[in-house]
Amino acid sequence: MSERPLLAISSCLLGENVRYDGAHKKDHWLIRELGRYVDYRAICPEVAIGLGVPRQPIRLLKINEDIRAVGVSDATLDVTEALQNYAFDTVPSLGDISAYVFKSKSPSCGVFRVKQYHPNGMATAKGAGVYAEVIGQQMPDLPMEEEGRLCDPVLRENFVSRLFTYHRWQRLLMDDLHSASLIDFHMRHKYLLMAHSQAAYQRLGRLLSNLKGQDLRQVAKAYQSELMSALNRKVSRARHANVLQHLQGYLKKAIKAGDKVEIADNIAAYHRGELPLVVPIKLLAHYFRCYPNDYIAAQAYLQPYPDALGLRNAI
Ligand code: SF4
Repeated sequence: MSERPLLAISSCLLGENVRYDGAHKKDHWLIRELGRYVDYRAICPEVAIGLGVPRQPIRLLKINEDIRAVGVSDATLDVTEALQNYAFDTVPSLGDISAYVFKSKSPSCGVFRVKQYHPNGMATAKGAGVYAEVIGQQMPDLPMEEEGRLCDPVLRENFVSRLFTYHRWQRLLMDDLHSASLIDFHMRHKYLLMAHSQAAYQRLGRLLSNLKGQDLRQVAKAYQSELMSALNRKVSRARHANVLQHLQGYLKKAIKAGDKVEIADNIAAYHRGELPLVVPIKLLAHYFRCYPNDYIAAQAYLQPYPDALGLRNAI
């Protein structure tokens, strides 16, 4: 596994002309910004199953509880099983993938609120595309998102944090697994986890509390599931503020009263929505540079992904 995370992505988002009409849906943020720090593996399931470019567009048709991917103009073109089988065949090759970005609204690649048409022509927006649904079921811990939702700063930050954390976890699993390395990972992710869910952090701690004689691969499997489920939860300003106050506590003997007030004021202003998260984080990072603390320096919370992405400027 390389040092740069590898992301699977719907090919049309990378600018490949693979859509039904021969066009693409190039996503500039994914290519120009995130692409500076990750590598991509492009996948177009509709092309992979042999539908040409251009081709007849397909849509989801809901008949009772059965959902089929069929041609828009010719419903006898039914590619449901072909897309599902391609997804099952693809899963084994995705073991080195740290996340997957799908094209929204697609009957193949969409993850959320894909339109399902009823025989009377009416449509409701719910459910996933046929290919993406199988990937999600087979790889429930893999960070997955749609490019459209990544325009939301909170969802974008959450997704990037999950993908880099999952990548760090995957790299840990590459080596011989030791109790010490699992405990070290948990220690380094304490405050990131606490921001998402204090209860999950405690459950994961209990999982690692007595590893003697345990099958570490089974423990790691359970840890991964709980870890990725916890990170999927959005972090409120109140929870970030709580973590920031905990971090400030490590400076209480080192800094002067006026500096403590400055940090507390910045955390409070962030909590009220008057400042972005990057401000109190940078202020704390400044004081931890002046008064180093090895335990805090190891915390993923302070830099869960490259700072230059600027994601904490917008939340
Ligand atoms: S949405 Fe998926 S199936 Fe459609 S063109 Fe893009 S990659 Fe291909």
